[in-house]
Amino acid sequence: MRVSEQTLPELGVPVPSYRRDDVSVGIVHFGVGGFHRAHQAMYVDRLLEQGKAKEWGICGVGVLPGDRRMQEALAAQDHLYTLVLTHPDGTWEPRVIGSIVDYRYAPDDPEAVVELLAAPSTRIISLTVTEGGYNIRHDTGEFDVDDPAVQHDLRSGEPPTTVFGLVTEALARRRERGLRAPTVMSCDNIEGNGAVARRVFTEYARLLDPDLAEWISEHVRFPNSMVDRITPVTTDEVVSALSERFDVQDRWPVAAESFTSWVLEEAFADGRPPLEDVGVQIVDDVAPYELMKLRLLNAGHQGLCYFAYLMGYRLVHEAAQDPLLAGFVRAYMDTEATPTLEPVPGIDLDEYKTTLIERFANPEIRDTIARLCAESSDRIPKWLVPVIRENLATGGHVQLSAAIVASWARYAEGVDEQGEPIEVVDRLADTLVPIARRQLTHPTAFIENTEVFGDLAQNHRFVDAYTWALDALHNDGARATLKELPGEPE
Ligand code: NAD
Repeated sequence: MRVSEQTLPELGVPVPSYRRDDVSVGIVHFGVGGFHRAHQAMYVDRLLEQGKAKEWGICGVGVLPGDRRMQEALAAQDHLYTLVLTHPDGTWEPRVIGSIVDYRYAPDDPEAVVELLAAPSTRIISLTVTEGGYNIRHDTGEFDVDDPAVQHDLRSGEPPTTVFGLVTEALARRRERGLRAPTVMSCDNIEGNGAVARRVFTEYARLLDPDLAEWISEHVRFPNSMVDRITPVTTDEVVSALSERFDVQDRWPVAAESFTSWVLEEAFADGRPPLEDVGVQIVDDVAPYELMKLRLLNAGHQGLCYFAYLMGYRLVHEAAQDPLLAGFVRAYMDTEATPTLEPVPGIDLDEYKTTLIERFANPEIRDTIARLCAESSDRIPKWLVPVIRENLATGGHVQLSAAIVASWARYAEGVDEQGEPIEVVDRLADTLVPIARRQLTHPTAFIENTEVFGDLAQNHRFVDAYTWALDALHNDGARATLKELPGEPE
C-alpha cells in the first residue's frame, strides 16, 4: 500500500497518531537527505507523538538540482515517509514519520522561501548541507568568497540561489521589520558546527552589509551539536524489501541503524522544542562530545574505507568484520585519537569505541565503502587533520593517521589493486586524481596540496610516516601494509 495521509489508518506499520493538520511550521530545514529524515525529523515526530511541539513542524528546503527528486517524492505522499531502523539481529522496525509537513524546492520560487524564512513563526533554521556546504577554504579556514554560486548571489541582483543568499536575505528582512532573530542550527559533522555556521553566515552578510552582519552576530544564535546515527544512502533493495516485508510502498524511505544520539548546545534565539523529552542531551558545552564523535567515528570510518576499498571490500560491515581492519581502526582510535580528546562527561570511552566497531560491523546497515570514500577532501581536513596536528604539537603518535592519509592518496590514484578503475567522487577530483598519479615519482605530491593539507608536508615526522605507508601501499598492497602497522587484532 502506498504511503499517504489517506492510507495511514490502513498501513500495517506504526504511523503518526497525531493530527498533522494541527502541526504548523516552526523549523525550516535545508538539506533534507537521508540523515535529517533519520534523525532530527524523527525526534520531532516523537515529540508530536507525545502531543508536544505542534508549532515545531518542519518545512524542508532544497537548493540543488538533485533536490528536485526529494521534492517530488515527498509531495507524492503528503510529505510522509518511512524510517526503517535496522537492528543488528536482523529485525526491521519501520515507522511512518509525519513531522515534515511541507517541502520547497527553492529554485521554483526563491521569494516564497525567503518569506518563509523571514516569517516570525519560523524560529529555527536548521541545516544538514554536508561538510562541503559551508563553503570553507581548507587552507585559510575562511568563507570562500570566490565560489561562483556565492558570487552570483552577491553580485547578480537576481533572487538568491544558495543557502547563504536565501537565509541572509531573510535575516535582512527580519531586521528591517523589527522581528526577532531565529536560531540557525547546523547538524552537520563539522567540529564546532555552530561556530562554523556563525562564521560563514556573518562573513557572507558582511560582504553585503556590515550592519546586518553585526545584527546577526548579536541576535542570531548558532548552537553547536553532536549528531550520531549511521544513515546509508537509500538503496532499491530497501525500497523493495519494505514493500515485500511490510506491504509499504514508499518512493523514498530511509533506513538507519537503531543507535541514535544528539547532544545539543543550549543556545537558542527564540525558543526550541522540548527535545530533552525524547532523549536529546541538552548541554552547555558540546565540544567534548563532538571531538569524541568526529575523531573516533568519522575519522575511524576514513581509517577503514580506503584500505577496505583497496582490499576489495565494498560494504562497510564486511570490512569491519575483518580483524586486520578492525584492529587497525581500533589502534588508531586508542593511540592517536583518544589522547587528543577531553574527558567526555557521562561517557565510557572504551565502551564507546567497542560499540563503534560493533556498529560498523552491523550487517543490517549495508552501508557502502563508496559512501565513506566520497567527498574525502571535505572530510579528512575536518576530521583527521586536526588529530594529526594536535599529535604533532604534543609529541603524540601520527603513524596510523599518516597511513590513513596515504591510503586516501593511494585510493585517489583512481585504480585499485586489481587494476580496475575507481570512481573518485570528490568535488576536487579533477585536481586530486592527477596529483595522486604523480606520487609514483614524487611521493609527497598529494600532501603538498595546501588547499587540503595546509603546511603538513613541511613536518618531517609526518612526512616520514606518510611516505613509508604510501611506499608500502604501492609495493606490497593494502593488506600487507596493515600487517606491518601496529594494530590490535580483535
Ligand atoms: P544526503 O546526500 O542524503 O543529503 C544531503 C543534502 O544536502 C541534500 O539535500 C543536498 O542537496 C544538500 N546539499 C549538499 N550540498 C549542499 C549545498 N552546498 N548547499 C545546500 N544544500 C546542499 O546526505 P545525508 O546522509 O543526509 O548527510 C548529510 C549530512 O548530514 C552529512 O554530510 C553529515 O554532515 C551529516 N550527518 C550524516 C550522517 C549519516 O550517517 N548519513 C550522520 C551524521 C551526520
